[in-house]
Amino acid sequence: MTVNADPQELDKFGELAHKWWDTEGEFRPLHQINPLRLDWIAERVSLPAARVVDVGCGGGILAESMARRGAQVTGIDLSTKPLKVARLHALEAGISVDYREVSAEDLAVEQPAQFDAVSCMEMLEHVPEPASVVHACAALAKPGGWVFFSTLNRNLKSWLFAIVGAEYLLKMLPPGTHDHHRFIRPSELARWVREAGLEIESMRGMEYNPLTQRYWLSTDTSVNYLLACRKPGA
Ligand code: SAH
Repeated sequence: MTVNADPQELDKFGELAHKWWDTEGEFRPLHQINPLRLDWIAERVSLPAARVVDVGCGGGILAESMARRGAQVTGIDLSTKPLKVARLHALEAGISVDYREVSAEDLAVEQPAQFDAVSCMEMLEHVPEPASVVHACAALAKPGGWVFFSTLNRNLKSWLFAIVGAEYLLKMLPPGTHDHHRFIRPSELARWVREAGLEIESMRGMEYNPLTQRYWLSTDTSVNYLLACRKPGA
């Protein structure tokens, strides 16, 4: 089977890997949104008791923060350098996270229904077949387990805000970080999620004010949004 990954996308993150934990650098937005999404997960999952897998973990911003809250975390990605950075950072911080270079699809075959929670944040919009990742995430979750996604909506406003605004005007992200064609409408993600046998518990937008540089969760899903899903059973 061919791997469901775009080598150019993986290289892009590999080249920037050394900047992953620079809170003022290219990954600043991920550092800024992390407390929001971490709390959003922790409202639903008892992290100290949870076995969690973070799909497309990169340098480990979310994975490490879940481990700090007591979760037993596996972080997976297909880009080698961010994983190296993630391992080193966890080591220096004295936090235990199991980082592995494996696809979600392969891990789902190896460890089906083993995780209380699966997170897959800001990753689906970089993958050729996002529906396949959604299916794998569903397969990784235990019955009754949670699956969390975040991605970018596809419309004129998201092109203006997430590409023109964030990459070119405000220079929050390097130009070329995102390809608008790969953005995913909530209706599309909702369909893949249902086809994978998951139930949607909550959908929230994530908004940003460039003047105050603050992020918050809202009902406006027109640019960034998050989805919390549950696997039936248990
Ligand atoms: N989820 C992290 C990182 C987001 S950046 C966070 O939100 O903090 C996107 C990540 O997805 C990068 O680390 C990139 O290497 C990874 N990625 C892209 N395509 C992938 C694929 N097909 N399989 C696994 N990871 C992938």
